[in-house]
Amino acid sequence: MFDLTLTFDNGPEPAVTPLVLDILRERGISTTFFVIGEKLGDPERRRMAARAHDEGHWVGNHTFTHTVPLGQQHDPQTAQHEIGRTQDAIGNLAHAQRWFRPFGGGGNLDDRLLKPSVVDYLTRNKHSCVLWNAIPRDWDDPDGWVERALAQCRSQPWSLMVLHDLPGGAMDHLEDFLDRAETAGARFRQDFPPDCVPIRSGEIVRPIESYVSSIEESARQ
Ligand SMILES: [Zn+2]
Repeated sequence: MFDLTLTFDNGPEPAVTPLVLDILRERGISTTFFVIGEKLGDPERRRMAARAHDEGHWVGNHTFTHTVPLGQQHDPQTAQHEIGRTQDAIGNLAHAQRWFRPFGGGGNLDDRLLKPSVVDYLTRNKHSCVLWNAIPRDWDDPDGWVERALAQCRSQPWSLMVLHDLPGGAMDHLEDFLDRAETAGARFRQDFPPDCVPIRSGEIVRPIESYVSSIEESARQ
């Protein structure tokens, strides 16, 4: 038996997100979609985020462009450009805890995720920072990720798993994964393990130093 919280990052994508939503609805599983802000400029994709919200999923912020990890950006306006603009695009679909998930490129939990001005922004704007503890690399291995995902679930009492509602074929195996996870005793839940949420509603509640780069201190004017 294990607890499992699912999250779907980097969408919405017309070719994938509706199918993922169908599968989750059929099984009564509630999750979080961490969306890319600029994708919501497309009305069709915005409607997919709205559908997710209406069906009980949470909609989180996963940066506006998802290009350079925030901890590696020199621009002093990074937080507004990447987080603020996305939160505006999410608008009334936002959860009260204002979920934000950074990215490091390749799923690493290290100091590429954040930088001091981004931490300031998250605390001032009462965001919650949501990390993860299971990342089966579905983008790398679209046909083989299920085995790794199940092994990660079995290795700990509560997994917060990163999957991607992106084209590429990985989500063709979502139903198989859910079947096997259920057989293995998965209890699906929507909330996040506290250890994965170092900032909650603007308050730093877990150590974050290892996720924060010193890029601003080292920047030359
Ligand atoms: Zn991502």
